[in-house]
Amino acid sequence: MYGPVIWRIPGERREVYFTFDDGPSPVTTERILKLLEKTDIKATFFCLGENAQAYPPLVSLLKAAGHTVANHGFRHLNAWSVDWHAFHKNVIKGRELTGSIWFRPPYGRLWPGYAARLQEEGIRTVMWDVLSGDYRLDVSRHEVLGRCMKLTRAGSIVVFHDQHRSWPVVEWVVPRLAEFLRKQGFNFSALPPEPPFPVR
Ligand SMILES: [Zn+2]
Repeated sequence: MYGPVIWRIPGERREVYFTFDDGPSPVTTERILKLLEKTDIKATFFCLGENAQAYPPLVSLLKAAGHTVANHGFRHLNAWSVDWHAFHKNVIKGRELTGSIWFRPPYGRLWPGYAARLQEEGIRTVMWDVLSGDYRLDVSRHEVLGRCMKLTRAGSIVVFHDQHRSWPVVEWVVPRLAEFLRKQGFNFSALPPEPPFPVR
């Protein structure tokens, strides 16, 4: 059921996994933290290692608030533009800085076999089944909300961004989406430190 790439985490409970990529950011992370506290949501932050290294207090704040800090690579490397060696080194450096088994490749890009090779080292690749589009300048916040409402189901992994450009959309969409889903009995969870299913 679970190959090396995780797109969704189906289970018996109505659980939804919000994720925020590319942080931590001195501009947005604390705003997102407040938003998540107000809306009673636990989430997963796929942090860039270089940002985690630059802003350790923000990483501490995320953890202290009960969110999961996960690995988005040290730099925002495109797997299609570098060789395996450079890509792998970047993932490992990101893992050292985030301490997480969860890895999300920048741009969602990998070559076939990469996720299986990472899995051999205990690294689990997490994609998503709902791409909010919060970073797209050509899509309105209403469209982002509509798309998320339509696509999110039990076990969904939803992508947002912890970055300046997405903040106005995130600030508007997240509380509305949370209210909509909560009325249907959904809970909002962070990825656990260990996978809630057999790893191999
Ligand atoms: Zn990213």
